[in-house]
Amino acid sequence: MTVPNPAAAVSSIADRFAQVRGRIAEAAKAAGRDPASVGLTAVSKTQGPEALQAALDAGQRVFGENRVQEAQGHWAARRAALPDLELRLIGPLQTNKALEAVELFDVIETLDRERLAAALAAAMTRAGRRPSVLVQVNTGAEPQKAGVLPDDADALIAVARDRYGLKVEGLMCIPPVDEDPAPHFALLAAIAARNGLGVLSMGMSGDYLAAIAAGATHVRVGSALFGERNKAPAPS
Ligand SMILES: *Cc1c(COP(=O)(O)O)cnc(C)c1O
Repeated sequence: MTVPNPAAAVSSIADRFAQVRGRIAEAAKAAGRDPASVGLTAVSKTQGPEALQAALDAGQRVFGENRVQEAQGHWAARRAALPDLELRLIGPLQTNKALEAVELFDVIETLDRERLAAALAAAMTRAGRRPSVLVQVNTGAEPQKAGVLPDDADALIAVARDRYGLKVEGLMCIPPVDEDPAPHFALLAAIAARNGLGVLSMGMSGDYLAAIAAGATHVRVGSALFGERNKAPAPS
């Protein structure tokens, strides 16, 4: 394999954004949905400054990051010049990082336990900022994976809303890598529907078309936009 020169890599990022956006629109139409009802979250974890700039140049403003500190490095300085930037935390959050997360992110997609709901509520009071929240559901009940178990999701949603006053807007999931994702997307959609939640963050580079067919409102796409990551931490 040859190492691409940075200019070529940058132009191919623009091409990939156009291609992924086109596919999202087609999948939405095929599902009888308005293409504008599916948001593209560009997963910018592990990317360097040229790639971030190429995404911004392609008009992208919604980004997903899975580590608080890396996200600060990517976005804290750029943020002032980008009033329409939307940052979404898609990786697991420790309670001792809740304040930093609340200060930086617009949406926290990975609420999965009551202790974290409490920490987020306290952090929001301190920060004077109220990002919206998604509950991450471990639809495959995988022991190593973050997320509330499907049977415990309704209770956590209720506690987060009612006891802690969090703005719970929807659900997020990462299906098991070795399974058909469709039943996992359907399960997430069913849990959202019975709880009156409208936002479904589901679908990654390998399965975002299936996720859109199942009702995704936000797809989280990394490698299909930026190319393969060198050092991808396993999503959990
Ligand atoms: C890394 C990551 C993605 C993007 O994965 P790709 O397969 O590169 O599109 C999406 N969601 C989460 C939670 C991730 O950690």
